[in-house]
Amino acid sequence: MSGGGDFTGNFDGALAAALGALVKATKAVGRLPEDIEFHRTVDDAADQRLSEVSERVLAMGNALCAGARAGPGPAEIEGVDDIAEKGGDGAWGAAPGFRSVTDTVDTLLEKIDVGLDEVLKTAAHRMRSLAQQSAPVVTTVVAGQQQQQQQQQQSVRIVHAQNIPRPQLQFKDAIDNSSATPFVWKIREKPHARVPLDHGLPSEDMADTPLGQHLHKLGIPRPRSPASPAGSGATTPRRGAPAPSIAQTLAALTASEAGSLRALPHPYEYEITHAEHPKRLFDAGSEQQPAGWDETPFEFVDSEAALGEMMAHLETASEIAIDLEHHDYRSYQGFTCLIQVSSRTRDYVVDALALRAELQCLNRVTADPQRIKVFHGADHDIQWLQRDFGVYVVGLFDTYHASKVLNMAHHSLAHLLKTYCGYHADKKYQLADWRIRPVPDEMMRYARADTHFLLYIFDRMRTELLERGQRLVGVDVGSPDSAHFGELAGMDTVMSAVQPMELVLQRSDQTSLKTYIKEGYDADHGMGGGGWAKLLKKWNHPLTPTQLTVYRVLHQWRDSCAREEDESVRYVLPNHMLFAVADRMPEEAAQLLAACRPTPPLVRLHAADIVRLIAQARKAAQSRINDVRADVEETPEPRRPVHTRFDDSGSPISGDIPRPDVLTPELLASVDDMVAPGSALFGSPTAVTSAAAGTIKGGASPGAEQMAAAARAREIRAGLVLTVAVPQTVVTGAQADREFKRVGKRAVSPEPQQQEEHKAKRPAAPV
Ligand code: AMP
Ligand code: MN
Ligand code: ZN
Repeated sequence: MSGGGDFTGNFDGALAAALGALVKATKAVGRLPEDIEFHRTVDDAADQRLSEVSERVLAMGNALCAGARAGPGPAEIEGVDDIAEKGGDGAWGAAPGFRSVTDTVDTLLEKIDVGLDEVLKTAAHRMRSLAQQSAPVVTTVVAGQQQQQQQQQQSVRIVHAQNIPRPQLQFKDAIDNSSATPFVWKIREKPHARVPLDHGLPSEDMADTPLGQHLHKLGIPRPRSPASPAGSGATTPRRGAPAPSIAQTLAALTASEAGSLRALPHPYEYEITHAEHPKRLFDAGSEQQPAGWDETPFEFVDSEAALGEMMAHLETASEIAIDLEHHDYRSYQGFTCLIQVSSRTRDYVVDALALRAELQCLNRVTADPQRIKVFHGADHDIQWLQRDFGVYVVGLFDTYHASKVLNMAHHSLAHLLKTYCGYHADKKYQLADWRIRPVPDEMMRYARADTHFLLYIFDRMRTELLERGQRLVGVDVGSPDSAHFGELAGMDTVMSAVQPMELVLQRSDQTSLKTYIKEGYDADHGMGGGGWAKLLKKWNHPLTPTQLTVYRVLHQWRDSCAREEDESVRYVLPNHMLFAVADRMPEEAAQLLAACRPTPPLVRLHAADIVRLIAQARKAAQSRINDVRADVEETPEPRRPVHTRFDDSGSPISGDIPRPDVLTPELLASVDDMVAPGSALFGSPTAVTSAAAGTIKGGASPGAEQMAAAARAREIRAGLVLTVAVPQTVVTGAQADREFKRVGKRAVSPEPQQQEEHKAKRPAAPV
């Protein structure tokens, strides 16, 4: 950090000073008026001062993040707006800056996860047998860079315990982490069906196909033939839309998107798209205050009997608030740990680990379009319910979508709780280990609060949506003269004829139509959420061609190990270690372990295999590089142009012209896209393109310059050849590792004299 005293060697002093400053800053922020934007418009001096301070804070934030990353990492935050906005998917951070902050925090947490495991392991060793779960340990991390709306909280609480029994060992359903098979439904019965369960599934004619066999193995019911009017599993006769043709279904089923496997169709798609929303959503009814916390009967549901009682109660409720807590560190796909449910009069927290196999009965209320289900930011919840229990939601009202349509300042549940209920949610537990049983009191309170107030929040938002809709009646939305123009313009979309409530319901329907898709693995191109290309791009980590080969092999090893052991990839080998190992390419197990400290258990276990894989990758990369070299040397000079080309003055250009297919900026850009942004190994792509442009234009001494350019073109082509010819490696350089050296942390550049060459050809650019 710049500014402040010199605390070199005095960590405690630095920490105390930093914390003091942080507390002061936080207090000051708390005193800022809520309508700060208004003050900025009326007071120029204040506006300017605020802008200066904002910029300083932003720069400090970036410096802090850079420090925390200690190496290349996510891109910098460019503006305050980057941070303030949460992602459009209703879940956590999609805005670039927010993501950059959360990525940094993720990396820190990842390190803490590994560190805590290590510390707790030795502590546990001393105190008790390894098989026993330790008491929960609460770790408070002062993070400071929470979402802006939670300024009052600077800490993330991580509740950990050592030796938590792996709940998935008790699951009755088999966990299928295979990247070759798509996710298939758990749902067996379909309450509130308007079309049968097997509507749209492949028929038994498909029994011989791999998909048919997979479905059969999993006991998914299929119609006897495509023509059969109602197949097995139907509870009501088919009505409405005709079944899609088998060809359509199969095409949809077998098409795999980049890096992910397609799921089966949504079993309630027809019901969701054809449901009539309950009338009372459009009645400005009364708002019902939530009952007091202590007066509300609360139940932890962890037996079938208790579940039966809860269901009986819910079947009398017309609105139900639901939320989920999830665990994904010690599991490949993750699993739901708790389901919180509130009616107007009762709160429940369901033990989703103990009752995993029994929870499909929830469909009796969740799939009933007449019972309004209120969630906040349900994108993930919807998918987790399908994946773990075969539970679907018909009739969703998502308060996140409502907060967007109402154009509220922030869209988190914490903000809604504060705005409507004056309740300060303790979001510190968001990242707690929800597998811990018995659930510690403070975690239980946190979980329960997530739904306790939600129906009242729904009431308030419904009132506001309907009021706003009233004011819209007869308003010429497009006219700036309209008294409501400002208000309308403030809405997050062009509202035109759509009423705010309708808009929320449409978006909520879209959310409830989400299907869980198991992540595939795209070894060749690294596409998909967990793909190697995305990670490389995100980290912007420079790698030589050989290191890149090693990185890809490690990435794939990590993925298959995680699938096999049912662990998250970050448990198997955290990202920062993956890059550290790719950098060092250790030749012996001891070196590997030294690159990963503290060593993740699965790395220790498989150290010999990993080292062997690295050696193979290095060898393969080297021999490919040699092959391509030989190929380049044998390649004849570029062909002469078939068409005559003219320079700017209209004179014909003669001589060798590099093949345009090699040199198009698009092509170069796409290659650059495939690899880390910082790895334009020839210098910047612009430099290459302008070098080529120089050739085509000819010039004073066409001969020498064109020869040089043609040579460059061959190099570039060799790079592309290598890219295409080496399915195991994407390499942007035609040259071997040692011909490149790392300059600074991010850039990989050619040798100095080549760099000079580039500079000479590059048009002078402001730095
Ligand atoms: P919530 O809806 O806020 O209660 O969050 C539900 C679950 O989502 C939590 O149990 C976590 O597993 C996960 N989750 C919530 N927030 C985050 C976050 N910022 N980063 C990663 N996971 C999160
Ligand atoms: Mn949630
Ligand atoms: Zn929650």
